[in-house]
Amino acid sequence: MFFIFGFGSKEHELGAGQTRTCGRCGNTTVWNRLRTAKQFTLFFIPIARWGRRELEVCTICGNAVTV
Ligand SMILES: [Zn+2]
Repeated sequence: MFFIFGFGSKEHELGAGQTRTCGRCGNTTVWNRLRTAKQFTLFFIPIARWGRRELEVCTICGNAVTV
């Protein structure tokens, strides 16, 4: 008997976030809001999720902040 298991992170897009001025690229745009979580899977079925957090990501350079 063998097990197929894995660790990964799951991202879920929540749509448009706030309009922000990026500290990295300096552009003012509407950022994308994402929810990410770490997960452990067994036979491709998620068994556990933790570390859920929400981020907003600059659409120009990919800079992310926790919200
Ligand atoms: Zn940026």
